[in-house]
Amino acid sequence: MRDNGQILDHLFETNQIDLARGALFDMPPGPMPRDLDFDRVEGMMLGLAIGDALGCTSEGQLPNSRRARYGEIRDYVPNRYAGNEPVGLPSDDTQLAFWTLEQMIEDRRFDPDRVAARFCRDQIFGIGSTVRRFISNYKLGVIPWYECGIKSAGNGALMRIAPMVIPHLQLGTADLWVDTALSAMITHNDSASTAACLSFVNMLWQLLTLDGPPEADWWLQTYVETAKDLEVNDKYRPRGGAFCDYQGTVWRFVEEILGEAYQRNLSTLDACNSWYSGAYLLEAMPSVIYILMQHGSDPEEAIVRAVNDTKDNDTIGAIVGAAVGALHGRRGFPSRWISRLSGRTTARDDGRIYELLEVSERLWWHWSNGRALVEITRVFTEYFANWSIELPEEAIATRNRGEIRKARWIVQYLFGREASREYLDFYASHRMTNDRHVRIWEDGQVKSLESYQEMLIYKSEKPEDKERAEHEYREHNQRVSEILKKKGFR
Ligand SMILES: [Mg+2]
Repeated sequence: MRDNGQILDHLFETNQIDLARGALFDMPPGPMPRDLDFDRVEGMMLGLAIGDALGCTSEGQLPNSRRARYGEIRDYVPNRYAGNEPVGLPSDDTQLAFWTLEQMIEDRRFDPDRVAARFCRDQIFGIGSTVRRFISNYKLGVIPWYECGIKSAGNGALMRIAPMVIPHLQLGTADLWVDTALSAMITHNDSASTAACLSFVNMLWQLLTLDGPPEADWWLQTYVETAKDLEVNDKYRPRGGAFCDYQGTVWRFVEEILGEAYQRNLSTLDACNSWYSGAYLLEAMPSVIYILMQHGSDPEEAIVRAVNDTKDNDTIGAIVGAAVGALHGRRGFPSRWISRLSGRTTARDDGRIYELLEVSERLWWHWSNGRALVEITRVFTEYFANWSIELPEEAIATRNRGEIRKARWIVQYLFGREASREYLDFYASHRMTNDRHVRIWEDGQVKSLESYQEMLIYKSEKPEDKERAEHEYREHNQRVSEILKKKGFR
């Protein structure tokens, strides 16, 4: 199987991806800081689900008529799919985002073809027209996944892109951009969409590490700087609104109109009405960035504005929600939004999104910092270099215990933690040499632990020496046997 980097290179070479290969692809974001609280990652994904759930009962209505009907929406609206209870239910935004995460968990990596297949498996609520066309392409089963996406500058890839950061938290390699580009083009193979996705993922990555809300300018600049290097099509035109004369790229449109709106201090409602706020990126993108510029420091207000002041309010709410969630964490949201969120990704899997987040933490962040494993793996591989014995990838991903039989070695291993430091213990036996019992600490330090003594050692033929040696030998092995039993080693 070709890896994702090779797939993307091939798609660039053969012009099958609508995107410029910008400098971003050569800039690894770098590992997340060691003290990143996973609460921020949860906030990002829950914010997405919350924005979607608050908006999806009134999706597509014009803000003024929605307000006339519901007043200001600050809580889940009674939902007929939940016995008319005010419960947060998902639509396509949440479903596709968490199905992407689900596949990455199953395979321990992002596999675009598998995600494409997953999108086609269950019913999607409130499905958009582009995703519908992608699904009918894919279901034909005659063209590869990368030819099934539509050239569409809708916001349907952007709404589900946030989970792409999760498998990369530990290492922060440039594969983050590769995976994001491939993920985006599954449904929308359009440079404005894929550029927006890459730009937004870059933004999320930075938001996860920020100590406090950035300046208003930061949102606009961060989006524009990344997107301008990636977008290729400069023929986008507004569908209506106050800027009908424009023709060009999405990033330039956003840059031009937002600067002015912000200077005039327009309300989010007036501003979003002026450029329209539907699913088209020329409308959704300025709406997202403007709401974040105005309310990024207040996660509740940011989502409430997205849900009330825009037309495609569930998706704009989901995108804004992911951003403020990454910045403020799960703790930043009102508890009523979390306790009344069903956590579904299908019609009947309540709580599923919480399960997926829990497994994600264990796989890709775990107790404190997954990077501990980089050092542990390196030392282990060096230790057994002569025999080419390595820790199985599965063990590294899950920290499950296991056993390796190779080159006549039997190596049993387990992961553990003492205070806040992680370690790997292994017990290795080989018929031709002494047993080894070793602890590798997360900083790479190695400590020998007691192993079975193979033979009796004593200095002379004096009976008392021999007796003492025999006694010590038995005691030693008895002790080792108990230690190993406690660890579950045989
Ligand atoms: Mg939706």
